[in-house]
Amino acid sequence: TQILNIVGGGMAGAEAAWQAARMGVQVVIHEMRPKTGTFAHRTGDLAEMVCSNSFRSDDDEQNAVGLLHWEMRAAGGLIMQAADEHRLPAGGALAVDRDPFAASVTATLRAHPNITISGEEITEITAGGQWIIATGPLTSAALGQAIAARTGTDALAFFDAIAPIVHHDSIDMSKAWMQSRYDKGETEEERTAYLNCPMDRATYDAFIDALLAADKTEFHEGETAQYFDGCLPIEVMAERGRETLRHGPMKPVGLTNLHQPEVKPWAVVQLRRDNALGTLYNIVGFQTKMKYGAQADVLRMIPGLENARFARLGGIHRNTFLNSPTLLDGQMRWRAHPHIRFAGQITGVEGYVESAAMGLLAGRLAAAEILGSPLPSPPQDSAMGALIHHITGGAEAKTFQPMNINFGLFRPVEGLKGGRRGRMDRYKAYTDRAKSAWQDWLAPQTVGAQ
Ligand code: FAD
Repeated sequence: TQILNIVGGGMAGAEAAWQAARMGVQVVIHEMRPKTGTFAHRTGDLAEMVCSNSFRSDDDEQNAVGLLHWEMRAAGGLIMQAADEHRLPAGGALAVDRDPFAASVTATLRAHPNITISGEEITEITAGGQWIIATGPLTSAALGQAIAARTGTDALAFFDAIAPIVHHDSIDMSKAWMQSRYDKGETEEERTAYLNCPMDRATYDAFIDALLAADKTEFHEGETAQYFDGCLPIEVMAERGRETLRHGPMKPVGLTNLHQPEVKPWAVVQLRRDNALGTLYNIVGFQTKMKYGAQADVLRMIPGLENARFARLGGIHRNTFLNSPTLLDGQMRWRAHPHIRFAGQITGVEGYVESAAMGLLAGRLAAAEILGSPLPSPPQDSAMGALIHHITGGAEAKTFQPMNINFGLFRPVEGLKGGRRGRMDRYKAYTDRAKSAWQDWLAPQTVGAQ
């Protein structure tokens, strides 16, 4: 029978190998460490946590990451099993004792009779066989170039420049209005793709001051800060001159404040619809290296965003990732080379948990295909399904940037009240619906004992 080759034994590759091996498929993990390192990994272990030791919230009723934990546990996930075994006390969060965690994942995979681990760097795309590429944000340069040669350089990024993303229902529409610049756009959908938040001169000045004063993060050692002029952090633009932003992403031209048509705004912050559901909007051109706490405070100075809830805050990092909405199908296969799947952070998800989750899916989908009984794509109402649906179809391809799991990716549940109580009811409704959809997807799959 056919072998499944997995490139990269990080969060995604380790989980994919485990799932496929348990389904009875022979797996080879190609992991270049410790022979070839990255600037962030320290060891030769599989599933090494490179930075924080947190899997974030473990609340599976009110939190989307906690829900992803739940779904992975329900699918017998190795990463969650090892995290639970090496859990450290951390309140509602799942903190992990990183070294024994990675050692335990490595030992379990090494001991599995269906798994072989090979220590080579893969530098080329192979024409035959079944493959999962899970080489992560720090994919080696040679492989990155081999992928880019086939995708075109526009479809593989080596840095992310993430603009903050806001939940639509937290924007104050008595201050913001919908309009595209110069009313461009053929269809209603195009004309309603943008939201605008106006600033008068005093607000703009205060905003620039706060931006310049805010705490910023530095690039990691070895992570070169070669950002391109097209995606400079807003604070760098502000440093170049107080007026720079007003002539750049905050220019007020071609827009009329529908709430006060007679007053010309001094500057305008634009937000663009970020997903087909219309539940998320990104702040156009607002990539930043401001620290998260400071960033939220500064962004809430924008009129209309005083009470904004952020689906994700902005950032700029070394990160290799695909334009998945154009390149991957709903089964995580490379459309142009369907014997190759991608999994983990390289697909445009972000974080340990999301990466492991995408590995779990890719492992199951690939193994089922090898065994001759392909699986349907996971249901959109599950957290797994919401995430894969976002990266392979729901997200806007043109502005695609890596995404964390969040409730903004879920189809809305109708008929629930607003406010804090309403929000708790809504999250509970999302998580209930997700769990049952996920169980329905898992139920017919028979995964053999290890
Ligand atoms: P990885 O876990 O990175 O695994 C990819 C594996 O592929 C690596 O083991 C690598 O050695 C191997 N590899 C690469 N190229 C090749 C090749 N050509 N041949 C063979 N093997 C190869 N996420 C969080 O949730 N919290 C954080 O605090 C956090 N901090 C981060 C800090 C930094 C500096 C970086 C770079 C990332 C951080 N992340 C963080 C993101 C985190 O690394 C990922 O979400 C997660 O590890 C991705 O899992 P993955 O399996 O896709 O990639």
